[in-house]
Amino acid sequence: MMGCNRLDGKVVIITGGARGIGEATVRLFLAHGAKVVIADIRDNLGESLCHELGEDASYIHCDVTNEDDVRKTVDFTVEKYGKLDIMYNNAGTLDASIAEILNTEKAVFERVLGVNLVGALLGAKHAARVMIPASKGCILFTASVASQIGGFSSYAYSCSKAALVGLMKSAAAELGRFGIRVNCVSPYGVATHIADGLLPVEAVNMDTEDLLSKFGNLQGVVLKAEDIAQAALYLASDDARYVSGQNLFVDGGYTIVNPSLAIGFYSTLG
Ligand code: NAD
Repeated sequence: MMGCNRLDGKVVIITGGARGIGEATVRLFLAHGAKVVIADIRDNLGESLCHELGEDASYIHCDVTNEDDVRKTVDFTVEKYGKLDIMYNNAGTLDASIAEILNTEKAVFERVLGVNLVGALLGAKHAARVMIPASKGCILFTASVASQIGGFSSYAYSCSKAALVGLMKSAAAELGRFGIRVNCVSPYGVATHIADGLLPVEAVNMDTEDLLSKFGNLQGVVLKAEDIAQAALYLASDDARYVSGQNLFVDGGYTIVNPSLAIGFYSTLG
C-alpha cells in the first residue's frame, strides 16, 4: 500500500492550510491524488497557493471559530466534489511560549481555546454531519507535544491541545460505529510562523529551527513541516484503516524522556 497515490480520489479539507504544516500537508495530499480544499483566514496566501497548485486545490475563507464558515466549507466541498473523505482540523494559534499563570489573561485564554479547541470541535461536527450518512470518513487534528507534557508552552495552548485529545477520543468512541476513524498528530516544535517572536532566538543567537533542534531529544534530524504531513498522510490513508483514537507523536521521543534525569545522569559521568 506504500505507493505514491495513497489518497487517490479522496476529498479533503485542511483548515489552516494556507501556510506551515497545513500547507505542507496540502502539497503532499495533492501529490498522492487527493482533491484538497484549503480553509483558512489568510485569503491572499490561500488563493495564491491554490493558483500555484492547479485545479485539484480550492480555497475557501473559513474562520474555524465561526460555525457558519465551517458549515459552508463542508457544504461547498460536498457540492463541488460530491463527498468529504478526510477532515484535517489543523488550524491553530499560540499566545505565548512560556507558561505563567499570573500573566494568563482570561480573554487570551478564551481566544486560543476558541481557535484550537472550539474550532476543531466545529470542524469535527460538520465533517461528521456528512460522514455519518456515508458510513465512512477520517477526522484528524493537529495537537502537540503540549497535549502530553506541561511546561512546553502557555496555559492556553497546553490546555487547548490536551483537551483536543479528549475531543479526539470522544469522537473516535462515538463515530467508530459509522466507520469513521479519528486521530491526532502531535508534533514537537517545527519552525513555522506560529512561534514568530515568541522564542528567545536573538538572546541565544540561533534561528528558531536550530534552537528547537538543540533542545529536542533526537539529534541529527531536523523536524520539518513535511514530517508532520507524512504522519497525517499515514493516518489519512488506508494504511491506517484500523487505526482510530490515537495521538501520534512526531517528536523524536521528546515526550517520553525526562531531560532533567537524563542530563543529571550524564553529568555524573563527567
Ligand atoms: P502556522 O502559523 O504556520 O499555520 C497556522 C495556520 O492556521 C495559518 O495559516 C493560520 O492562518 C491558520 N489559522 C489560524 N487561526 C485560524 C482560524 N481562526 N481559522 C482558520 N485558520 C486559522 O503554524 P503551524 O505550525 O503550521 O500550525 C499548524 C498546527 O500545528 C496548529 O494547530 C499548531 O498548534 C500545531 N502545532 C505546531 C507546532 C509547531 O511547532 N509549529 C507544534 C505542535 C503543534
